[in-house]
Amino acid sequence: MNSQLTAVITLSCISGVLNLYLCLYVFLKRYNYTKIAQLFIGYTAFIALYCFASAFGMTATTLEAIKFWTVIQYIGIAISAPLGLLFIMHYVGFYITKIKIIALLFIPFINLIMVATNDIHHLHYSVFEIDPVLGAPYIYQEIGIWYIIHGIYTFACMFVAFLLILTYWKETVKAYRWQLIALMCGQLISMMTGFIYLMGFTPQGIDPVPMVLWVSSLLYLWSIRSSRLFRVMPIAKDAIFHSMNDGVIVLDQCYRLIEFNRACQKMFPQLSKIMFGLDFEQVWSIIFGQSTPFTLETTEFELTHTTRTYQVRITTLQHDKGLLLIFTDITELKNLQKMLEQQAYYDELTQIYNRRAFFQQCNQAYQEAMETAAPFTVILIDIDYFKKVNDTYGHAVGDQVLVHVVKVCQRLITKAALFARYGGEEFVLALKGGTLAEGEALAQQLCHSVASQPLLVAEGVITTTISCGVAEATNREETLYQLLNKADKALYSAKQAGRNQVCIYQK
Ligand code: GH3
Ligand code: MG
Ligand code: MG
Repeated sequence: MNSQLTAVITLSCISGVLNLYLCLYVFLKRYNYTKIAQLFIGYTAFIALYCFASAFGMTATTLEAIKFWTVIQYIGIAISAPLGLLFIMHYVGFYITKIKIIALLFIPFINLIMVATNDIHHLHYSVFEIDPVLGAPYIYQEIGIWYIIHGIYTFACMFVAFLLILTYWKETVKAYRWQLIALMCGQLISMMTGFIYLMGFTPQGIDPVPMVLWVSSLLYLWSIRSSRLFRVMPIAKDAIFHSMNDGVIVLDQCYRLIEFNRACQKMFPQLSKIMFGLDFEQVWSIIFGQSTPFTLETTEFELTHTTRTYQVRITTLQHDKGLLLIFTDITELKNLQKMLEQQAYYDELTQIYNRRAFFQQCNQAYQEAMETAAPFTVILIDIDYFKKVNDTYGHAVGDQVLVHVVKVCQRLITKAALFARYGGEEFVLALKGGTLAEGEALAQQLCHSVASQPLLVAEGVITTTISCGVAEATNREETLYQLLNKADKALYSAKQAGRNQVCIYQK
């Protein structure tokens, strides 16, 4: 074996050993590392296979053995290139769909088959034989069309990986630059050596790439040890921007649209990159069909679009370089708020105000009426002999009667009046601006309506009546509680007088 061959085999083996070491090192520590380490393990394993197969190929003495090692070598090259690209993609936060990953790995699979079956079609190597001058393991080869396809694909994988790192260079914090340099050199070394080989500048019949791959391995090793590759890695700002749940729109100082993230595009599908550079007023009107609901002073507002509600926060960019609009979907929060409000202020059975809501609203209305000397009348309503309904038909039917009475009353009550469930089968009605006479007239109508509209249930026809007590605020010193007390006294009188009637409070 001549010294040149010994050097080639030694260097290829060093590359193989270093890559295997890297692969095992990361494999054993994989639980401490982020997910990306798995791709790196695969990448280095296939590179090690490539290097060892290349070294073994150089020790072969027959054409059959050389062919065998060439196929093994191709398993390494064909698969390591896309794995290297996927590894870099993950590193820079550029994710692709599963289908695209499968497509990326499918091409090397075909390449591999083409090499393994070259003797049948000669599309990869049109000539592949032992060099007549140098003898084994040197090969005289003429490349076929598939060799070019394979070369372009492998080269493209490395080049794209290199470009990706370069693109993210600016977005990456300085502390991570050494990692980027190591990764870039890793791609560049194989790429340049491969290129020189393809140009025919290296000795005939020797693939120089495995001989230089140890340099990349040392760089990776250094990067793992010193700049903690796989433990702490930069997340490109762009990746953060696009993975945010909040929608973000960026405007320049002239309020033209210059950027939006994926979340925003999902929220408002009409938003499109062709709108870049458009005046934001125009963009807003395309999306929402109206002019912008905010001014320069606005910092926060709520926006309802289709079925969703958004909280929009506006911040100015540093040095007044533009505006940032952040859209947070608060639909669920709003629904929950509405539900809690509903539970807190409305009676579950009849869906009218409960006692708490009544006092909250009525106190204010009563104060206003007292201050403006406007009339204020309350009506207390109580269902007659309701206990009997429960006892005869059961509690469930009793509930139906309560709902029925409320519905009948609601038809006669204006929206301005405050109608609430005051207690079990008692209701209250506050008429701001209503006089005693008006209150009495309304109460009469309610009595008549309830008595004349019986409820039909499976058990039969239930006729219900109500009694009402009406009282009007007579002096400004009187409290709402005193007024209600007067109405209660009137109600008691109505009950005493035989029920199904209205009594007004009289001193
Ligand atoms: P009166 O004519 O004197 O008002 O007689 P009443 O039977 O209507 O009065 P009473 O105060 O004796 O009975 C009221 C009943 O209302 C007692 C209670 O069980 C029933 N009640 C209170 N809240 C509800 C409810 O939410 N559903 C049902 N089904 N019954 C209720
Ligand atoms: Mg009653
Ligand atoms: Mg009662």
